[in-house]
Amino acid sequence: MTNQAGRDTAVVVGAGPNGLAAAVTLARSGLPVTVFEAADEIGGGTRSGELDVPGVLFDHCSSTHVMGAGSPFLRTLDLAAYGLEWRWPEVDLAHPVDSGEAGALYRSVERTAEELGADGRAWRRLFGPLAADAQELTEEVMRPVLHLPRHPLRLARFGMHALQPATLVARRFRTAAARGLFGGVAAHLYGRPLTQPFAASVGLLIIAAGHRYGWPVATGGSRAITDALAALLTASGGRIETGVRVRSLGQLPPAATVLLDLSPAAAATVIGDRLPPRVRRAYRRYRHAPGAFKLDLAVEGGVPWHDEVCRRAGTVHLGGGFEEIAHTEREVCRGRLPERPFVLVSQQYLADPGRSAGDIHPVSAYAHVPHGYPGDVTAAILAQFERFAPGTRDRIVAATATSTAAFARDNANFVGGDIIGGDNTPLRLTMRPRIALDPYSTGVPGVYLCSAATPPGAGAHGMSGHNAARSALRALGLG
Ligand SMILES: Cc1cc2nc3c(=O)[nH]c(=O)nc-3n(C[C@H](O)[C@H](O)[C@H](O)COP(=O)(O)OP(=O)(O)OC[C@H]3O[C@@H](n4cnc5c(N)ncnc54)[C@H](O)[C@@H]3O)c2cc1C
Repeated sequence: MTNQAGRDTAVVVGAGPNGLAAAVTLARSGLPVTVFEAADEIGGGTRSGELDVPGVLFDHCSSTHVMGAGSPFLRTLDLAAYGLEWRWPEVDLAHPVDSGEAGALYRSVERTAEELGADGRAWRRLFGPLAADAQELTEEVMRPVLHLPRHPLRLARFGMHALQPATLVARRFRTAAARGLFGGVAAHLYGRPLTQPFAASVGLLIIAAGHRYGWPVATGGSRAITDALAALLTASGGRIETGVRVRSLGQLPPAATVLLDLSPAAAATVIGDRLPPRVRRAYRRYRHAPGAFKLDLAVEGGVPWHDEVCRRAGTVHLGGGFEEIAHTEREVCRGRLPERPFVLVSQQYLADPGRSAGDIHPVSAYAHVPHGYPGDVTAAILAQFERFAPGTRDRIVAATATSTAAFARDNANFVGGDIIGGDNTPLRLTMRPRIALDPYSTGVPGVYLCSAATPPGAGAHGMSGHNAARSALRALGLG
């Protein structure tokens, strides 16, 4: 990519959290950076806005930011100075089960354990040590896989549990509420059978990090995360151009380095013939995860949850008991929509009341569905609400559905409605998008992939972008 004209400049394609984190990293090393974004607004998977009811603000994609608040990169930036403020709901997560009880997750391990009753001791034993290690653990697992661990013992302790199937870890708990609570977070693995090795890893990490950082929302919507990154970038001399869909490298101005916040297949198209054949094959064959179908509801008076703790929770998981969740996730992997899909509900307004208009509140819910699922899942999602909050339907003032196709249309990175940037197979959890010493390198000198399709994967934490930018800077002799 280097030529005389662009010798000291960098280009980033895509202004999602990873593209902007990459741009900020490059700009802070002294490189002038230009970011090109296809949509009319920046933010990618952190966009927020009003839908049908004026004054009611929805997060279109990401809502809850345990890994954002714990991001080793974002934590080094003074994003508060650029308008990012985290707020925490009283209850981070609730998980109702059919017996009428609910498991509740708090930042405090002690309070969580106390409320879990008979399973409190088991919860404390498993998550007490992991929560105490959470900061060091997130630092380890969010760095590129091939590195010398700074905290080998902590990593080994986590690895011992993380290697296991979630089904095995769930055996530590006896009550439906504790098993469901763990199972719902384990399902963030997203559409992989919970019986597989490593299937416990994502759930354990998110719960441990949750006990350390909580499950906060960004005041004024998740877009505040990328707005703050963009403001910091601009203050550091960077530029952003929106409404520019990049189709090939030839369209870009000369630059010493180019970072692509794109899906692997889109990166293969943009890079074109210069991509080495083995990398092209890996990018084209890259397997995406199952999809999401989302329903944004404006609800008068809020959701009438049967269990009181759900009325105070920023996130509510609707999937019933552990066995049911394991079954629904397996079905989704096999390409079948379960009768009662796993649904994740966000009630961000409880922490950030400015998102409501009077007594009309934004409630977002998305279901795990098969990759590219073409149908309408509205009825199945509403049935899950009615199961745990009878009367919800009567309170809905407006509803907007986003199908797998609509996700892909609004953001080309969400291929087939995959909102996590690729399948979380045991291999791809650590090595994505291909097995390589430097997973960010595309094999074309100066061109890097920096999206959630690279380690450490999905989430509005910016770590893929930051890691890719560090790789690019090292190659330029600046890192
Ligand atoms: C419904 C939903 C719920 C989610 N919930 C959470 C959550 O609660 N917490 C969390 O941390 N994460 C959540 N996520 C995941 C999170 O949003 C993503 O992991 C994150 O946005 C990935 O960041 P990224 O920068 O890699 O890609 P993206 O955010 O997808 O950004 C990519 C950007 O590149 C642009 N682009 C694509 N192609 C081109 C092109 N050819 N030229 C120029 N620009 C282009 C896109 O328009 C987009 O702006 C959720 C996602 C969805 C959809």
